[in-house]
Amino acid sequence: MPEQIARSGLVLEEDLIFEKSSPGRIGYSLPSLDVPEKEVSDLIPPSFLRREPPPLPQLSEPDVVRHFLRLSQWNFVPPHGLYPLGSCTMKYNPYLNEILARLPGFVRAHPLQPDQLSQGSLRLMYELERLLAEISGLDRVTLHPAAGAHGELAGMMMIRAFHESQGNPRRVVLVPDSAHGTNPSSSVLSGYQVRPVPSDSRGLIDPAEVSRLMDEEVAAIMITNPNTLGLFEVDIVRICSIVHSKGGLVYGDGANLNAILGIVRPGDLGFDLLHLNLHKTFSTPHGGGGPGAGPVAVREKLAPFLPVPVVEKEGDRFRLNYDLPRSIGKIRAFHSNFAILVRAYAYILSLGAAGLKRVAETATLNANYLRSQLASHYHLPFDRLCKHEFVATDRFQQRSGVRTLDIAKRLMDKGFHPPTIYFPLIVPGAMMIEPTETEPKEELDRFIAAMREIAEEAQRDPSLLTSAPHLTKVSRLDEAKAARQLDLRWAE
Ligand SMILES: *Cc1c(COP(=O)(O)O)cnc(C)c1O
Repeated sequence: MPEQIARSGLVLEEDLIFEKSSPGRIGYSLPSLDVPEKEVSDLIPPSFLRREPPPLPQLSEPDVVRHFLRLSQWNFVPPHGLYPLGSCTMKYNPYLNEILARLPGFVRAHPLQPDQLSQGSLRLMYELERLLAEISGLDRVTLHPAAGAHGELAGMMMIRAFHESQGNPRRVVLVPDSAHGTNPSSSVLSGYQVRPVPSDSRGLIDPAEVSRLMDEEVAAIMITNPNTLGLFEVDIVRICSIVHSKGGLVYGDGANLNAILGIVRPGDLGFDLLHLNLHKTFSTPHGGGGPGAGPVAVREKLAPFLPVPVVEKEGDRFRLNYDLPRSIGKIRAFHSNFAILVRAYAYILSLGAAGLKRVAETATLNANYLRSQLASHYHLPFDRLCKHEFVATDRFQQRSGVRTLDIAKRLMDKGFHPPTIYFPLIVPGAMMIEPTETEPKEELDRFIAAMREIAEEAQRDPSLLTSAPHLTKVSRLDEAKAARQLDLRWAE
């Protein structure tokens, strides 16, 4: 069996679409008009009209198809191979869900259709809510938020509304220093100051620290469990009771739910609300920033503040209820990224309770297999049982002048997407590796071989790494410059 994935030619170079334009070339034809022709300026006020036509590229249909197909071949997605981007859960997503999300009844549904013509979609939303409530161990769910970060914002707004209803919105939110950057951002956007909770030498939250930082001005603590180091917060029950004893709420960042799915219910641990990243745990392809869905599950006492509308069931009919006087209001046009809800619903029903539990078991087994096999070649700051991901560093390779970035770039030469790097921020030179549950052992073994080879190359020939990648379409880019000085050329 080949140690590495073979790489060969036939991935074609490609110009910008504007550079391929040929004046007068056209890729469509329209049937002749069967209504009287009208001037655009009769229909749209002239002040809204362009003075000149936009400089759009002019191409034939095959030109356009080739252009985008070639570009798509420059991309790397989980159906290509291992994509161990820690915390992002880049797993293989079953094509069945894609087929179901494209059923004409869903695709053609209009968001302004009346309830009586949307019973199927409403039923799906209602049942998905019940399923997510059961999985998270909480009472009610809003499906509206369009991403994890948006779920956090909705959650923090509900926390604020809850405290306001008790007479004092409070001022502060506790956020562990290993948290995803969206956690402090959502707190600040909701008008709170962030008080960081330092991680202890175990990489965990120390309940004594929480006691010290907790007072009656703290509205909530935001906790990711398992945390971004892939470690389960073993003191979580005590931490929740410390926060509750001072009237605070416990917010759960559920982005890592694939590690505990069907095994632990956050509501049973003491969490009061929790967002779930459907696009991560419940299978939607989500590269390039979306689309996503970040439903929030809440305890009954927070239900009056849920965003509107909520789906309700009366007899065997479903309806949207906008009449929630204490709601935080509407947080999104229409009803979430609906097609992602369809995928999550299909995924949950097709796996069933036993299948969901196996997701967590296999994700955890795969991560621990990688961790144990890489321990001989890489520094592991927290070398003990992990959940679905773990963190390694470049400490051993630094002796030869090789950094995490070089290791990540060299992995591309060996046929693997790099892991998340330099996060979490509390671990210098971090490589955060999440294999996910959908990888077979053979692929994990290839990754282990590649990572070990890289560690050996670092000793033997460090320049091979510091100048990597060598086999990709373009070599090392100045990523900061590329992001800050966008080169958006138009063909003149
Ligand atoms: C991905 C992630 C988020 C943010 O979710 P988005 O859907 O990307 O907005 C928040 N917290 C953690 C731990 C995450 O991994």
